[in-house]
Amino acid sequence: MWVGLDKLLELQKLDLTIARLDAEVRAIPQTIETVEGRLAKARQEFEEATEQVGHLQKERRAKERELEEANQNIKKKQTRLYEIKTNEEYTAVLKEIEVLKAKSSKLETEILEQMEQGDVTAKTVTEAERVFRAEQAGCEKERQDKEARLAAIQKELADLQTAQKGQASRLDAELLKLYTRLIRNRDVAVVPVMDSSCQGCGMALTPQAYAELRRNDRMFTCASCSRILYFPG
Ligand SMILES: [Zn+2]
Repeated sequence: MWVGLDKLLELQKLDLTIARLDAEVRAIPQTIETVEGRLAKARQEFEEATEQVGHLQKERRAKERELEEANQNIKKKQTRLYEIKTNEEYTAVLKEIEVLKAKSSKLETEILEQMEQGDVTAKTVTEAERVFRAEQAGCEKERQDKEARLAAIQKELADLQTAQKGQASRLDAELLKLYTRLIRNRDVAVVPVMDSSCQGCGMALTPQAYAELRRNDRMFTCASCSRILYFPG
């Protein structure tokens, strides 16, 4: 094996782990934002359902007052019937009572309908509250988990970066320069050759180049992607 390959592979292993952890750190705010978005939606649905219940109750109380008024009016007019002297007036008041009774009956139906609707809405509120509380707990747990994970990653990253610096210092300066440029531009700098092809870009090696590379006794770079190649054995 050519000098530096194993050190290079070890360095790359550290760099790839650092990159993976960096990506995980960067993804955390997005995850929290998604969970918070779900919580906000659940809170809004709960609030809207609660508001709807309040609105229905208010409407029902108004109708109940109207019904009471109509019923009192009916009683008053029925009492008046005994005091009436003329037939015309009697007929007129009877007619008024009939109109009031129809109104009262219509109100009763409407109140019953509103009560049924109220039951449905109350169930919606219960369900919306259950979802909201669950999202609230889930959001809190997610936040705590992510905070703990972030602290763990930051500690791990600090150790990895120290190890990375140490490993980089063990490499020949020219090789390190080439590697650093490649890992920045290509994500992976050192790739194995399998089935005669560069595993970085897929380009096939000539049979002669492949035969030479298999000896692993000097450094090869891919003619297409410039990555450092090696034979995994
Ligand atoms: Zn390549």
